[in-house]
Amino acid sequence: MPFKDLSLDRKIESVLDQLGLTEPTPIQQQAIPAAMVGNDLVASSKTGSGKTLAFLLPALQRVMRQKALSKRDPRVLVLTPTRELASQVYGQLRSLLSATPYRSTLVVGGENFNDQAKALRKDPHFVVATPGRIANHYNERTLGLDGLELLILDEADRMLDLGFAGELKLINEAANHRLRQTLMFSATLEHAEVEELAQDLLKKPKRIVIDEVTKPHDDIRQRFLFCDHLDHKQALLQRVLQDSEINQAIIFTATRSDTDRLAKILDDSGFSTASLSGDLNQQDRNRIMDKFSRGQQQILITTDVASRGLDLLNVSLVINFDMPKHAEEYVHRIGRTGRAGSQGDAVSFVGPRDWDAFQRVKRYLSLNVKFEQIEGLEGKFKGIKPKPKKKVKAGDTAKGKHKTAGKSKTAQQRRPKRPATRRPAPELVSGDGLAPLKKKKTAAKPDDSGES
Ligand code: AMP
Repeated sequence: MPFKDLSLDRKIESVLDQLGLTEPTPIQQQAIPAAMVGNDLVASSKTGSGKTLAFLLPALQRVMRQKALSKRDPRVLVLTPTRELASQVYGQLRSLLSATPYRSTLVVGGENFNDQAKALRKDPHFVVATPGRIANHYNERTLGLDGLELLILDEADRMLDLGFAGELKLINEAANHRLRQTLMFSATLEHAEVEELAQDLLKKPKRIVIDEVTKPHDDIRQRFLFCDHLDHKQALLQRVLQDSEINQAIIFTATRSDTDRLAKILDDSGFSTASLSGDLNQQDRNRIMDKFSRGQQQILITTDVASRGLDLLNVSLVINFDMPKHAEEYVHRIGRTGRAGSQGDAVSFVGPRDWDAFQRVKRYLSLNVKFEQIEGLEGKFKGIKPKPKKKVKAGDTAKGKHKTAGKSKTAQQRRPKRPATRRPAPELVSGDGLAPLKKKKTAAKPDDSGES
């Protein structure tokens, strides 16, 4: 289906032509017509599937075709969880607006508030923003939202994870009128809080799910390597980077301190490397992302600040130096490669501390994982076997088997005997026949600590 079949305004069609875009992606095919007829939407589709244009095109169409409710207030507000994603969305918006008379501005945290207030006084039609800063402007009355016609939430689940529920509700209430339309987009929407938010913000939304997020991503080859400890991970990291034909790579770590340390090691080994973490000021974050997205640096080491939505077409390799805590985050991280039909590799290091997180990812994506080895760097760690459930034989009281093991007789002898008549004898096992009886806390401690 060509874009021409979507009945978009001629001017929009010609911008798409100039951008070399001829056919809408599946999410665009469904979301654009549904949004253009005025529906509220809850849409989820895989990362890199063209979500941004799926909401920007109907937004622009609405602004072009319908009369504004207010001359001063923004007509379209796009909210994203991170500043980086906001500036990326803003970049796409600017190229769409280049041949139109419409104005836009970017309003994110970490930038000068007064400069933003000045830009807002110029009455932009479109504002792309992060929720915290937009709430500040609303509270300071440097922004009005009465005339808002279209509210777009990109990566709604991530905004909730970052604690923006209050700001989203404030913005919703500030622009709560009959004519407002709301579009909620995300790569992942299976999130109880997202459902609640959808109920609060949306009116009879149309639901669009393109690809289950948990379906394997055909364009990304996922590999897993066992690791014993930090030094082993570092040795594997160097080898994987040396052995791969990389355009650009992103390495995700669990901690900010590791991003800097690893960046230094890789820089010393001749890779041009930048590290990005949430504690940097916004100008530094912008500068680093800008350099990386223009291909001036080959490797970016980061925490999850860069895992969502960023569209970096040259990233051919993602390495999970540490596994992410949440399984959905894994999907977002590896989605930084294999963008817009290109092929990518995702390599994950799984050490003893990553084991539980790895299990969550494996279950979430129903992965059939075969661990790989790298010659000369084989490790000892081979995963953690689940503890077998203990069978309780008749006649073994839970106390007799568990609690007295390893205890000195004197301790046993010191324990006061319970009067036989005090209460009925407890059952030996729980209702399902497997779990041992609840232990009495004081007596249980010493042996338990030995087992765990
Ligand atoms: P997104 O999921 O919005 O981050 O988009 C991922 C990438 O797909 C971006 O580089 C877009 O420019 C590109 N893209 C979006 N829509 C299309 C389309 N209809 N045809 C080809 N590429 C597209």
